[in-house]
Amino acid sequence: MRCGYSSHGYNYSCSWQFVVRLRSTNYMEITGGCVCGGTRYLLKSRLFALVDCHCIDCRRSAGAPYVQWGSVPRPDVVITKGEARKVSHANRIRSFAACCGTHLFFEDAKDSETIDVTIASLDDPTPFAPQKAIFLEDKLPWVVIDESIPSFQTIPKKQ
Ligand SMILES: [Zn+2]
Ligand SMILES: [Zn+2]
Repeated sequence: MRCGYSSHGYNYSCSWQFVVRLRSTNYMEITGGCVCGGTRYLLKSRLFALVDCHCIDCRRSAGAPYVQWGSVPRPDVVITKGEARKVSHANRIRSFAACCGTHLFFEDAKDSETIDVTIASLDDPTPFAPQKAIFLEDKLPWVVIDESIPSFQTIPKKQ
C-alpha cells in the first residue's frame, strides 16, 4: 500500500480512498522538460501532494522566490531525452537539466519512494494548483500567500 509518501520533506497522509482514486486515475502520461528542450521527461502517473515551497534552498536553486512541487512514485519518472545532473546539498538531491540548468527534480534521499517534480517544468502546469504552502519561515516579505490554502511555518506535522 502506498502510504507514508514523503513529499518535499513531509509525509503525505493517505487513506484507502486516496489510494483507490490514485490507482484508477494512474494511467496517464504527463510530459515536461527544460527551457532549451535538451532534456525531456515523462511522468507515468498524476502528480500529488502539490506544494509551494518557500525554503531558502528551493529559492536559490531555482533562482525564483519560491517553487511549486508535486510528487510521483520514483518508478514513474522517466527521462526521455538528455540528462539530469544530480547535485547533493543539505542531504537532499536536486536534479538540473545537464544542458541548460533548469531545475527539474528533488529527492529526499537517493532511495526515496517518491520524486518531487517542479510543476513549472511541466508542458502543461495548469491543472496542478498548489494545495499547501510550506516553509513560510523563509518566505520573502513581498511574496503574497494565497490565504485559501493551508500554510505552514516549516512542514505539516506528521499525522
Ligand atoms: Zn536544456
Ligand atoms: Zn524547499
